[in-house]
Amino acid sequence: MGKIILTGDRPTGRLHVGHYVGSLRRRVQLQNSGEFDKIFVMIADAQALTDNADNPEKVRQNVIEVALDYLSVGLDPEKTTIFVQTGVPELTELAFYYMNLVSVGRVQRNPTVKTEIKMRGFEQSIPMGFFSYPVSQASDITAFNATTVPAGEDQAPMIELTREIVGRFNNIYGPTLVEPEILLPENAVCMRLPGTDGKAKMSKSLGNCIYLSDTPKELAKKVKSMYTDPEHLTIDSPGHLEGNCPFIYLDAFSSDEQVARLLPDYKSLQELKDHYCRGGLGDGTVKKLLIAVLEEELAPIRERRKQWEQDIPAVYEILRKGTEKAREEAAKTLDRVREAMKINYFADEKLIAEQARKYAAK
Ligand code: ATP
Ligand code: MG
Repeated sequence: MGKIILTGDRPTGRLHVGHYVGSLRRRVQLQNSGEFDKIFVMIADAQALTDNADNPEKVRQNVIEVALDYLSVGLDPEKTTIFVQTGVPELTELAFYYMNLVSVGRVQRNPTVKTEIKMRGFEQSIPMGFFSYPVSQASDITAFNATTVPAGEDQAPMIELTREIVGRFNNIYGPTLVEPEILLPENAVCMRLPGTDGKAKMSKSLGNCIYLSDTPKELAKKVKSMYTDPEHLTIDSPGHLEGNCPFIYLDAFSSDEQVARLLPDYKSLQELKDHYCRGGLGDGTVKKLLIAVLEEELAPIRERRKQWEQDIPAVYEILRKGTEKAREEAAKTLDRVREAMKINYFADEKLIAEQARKYAAK
């Protein structure tokens, strides 16, 4: 079936630079590499509803925002099928069958789910839908026979669970589903970009994000208020790099060429880091560099967004067409799954003949 990508994002807000380094940037590279036979990128609105059931308007509004972000980073609808999850009801049916292959305890031990339950205050009462979203992710991935899922580190336990479901399914019902692999960012710092507040993960739900669509002014403001080294009180005092956001972001976004071009006193990021650790380099200079680096990356993205914003109906049309195409693909997998599970009663002539014989012999 070849090499196939499935990945996506929840429409709970605009996409941020954590998404960009964790997955989006790589998707565009893979799309343009020509190495993949099919690429599916999903706007996971059904999954977003699992923890936003009381706020469907938020999800509804953000579908177009995520689509605009996709197009502005360079996802090309000619090469990548961009679709909306709820437009593919086959995914829900698959998830319903997969749920029989996973225990509650197995999901309870999933470290990402654990953190998210805490973050959302669901400890006392977890919505069933939210609890089962890792299973629904397995159906998203397998419906498209995905071999590769480019994602951040938080998704690793989900892909692991998907592989287990595939293993169990194929074992019980015969070889049907494809086992996927996660494709993590090469640069370790991009696997889980911290928020501007220094918290473990930049996340829409934590409000610590730099959005791809932020204006230059908003971007500069956020960088200037970034968490650095609380012990670096004066320019001359030695600084520490651990947990120091501007340096972490420079690791994720800058090249040595860029550092040398924008700050000619230094040949590489390492030289800049060394100076900071020795003392004598102020946070202001580092932040100014980071703003310039981010601007180089984000300015063209912002420009492309502005153009697409002029033609919103065309963006919905891209989603409609993509969703139609995705649905055809998922329907084929669902047919194979029903056949493997032998619940395709009406198409199973052998079953009908067998039953007829049984009763005729009575
Ligand atoms: P929410 O808070 O609604 O869950 P989110 O910001 O966590 O939103 P998702 O839509 O859950 O974003 O994640 C989409 C993709 O982006 C996933 O592949 C995830 O691994 C990746 N991703 C999200 N945040 C980061 C981050 N801070 N660093 C690296 N990758 C990230
Ligand atoms: Mg998330």
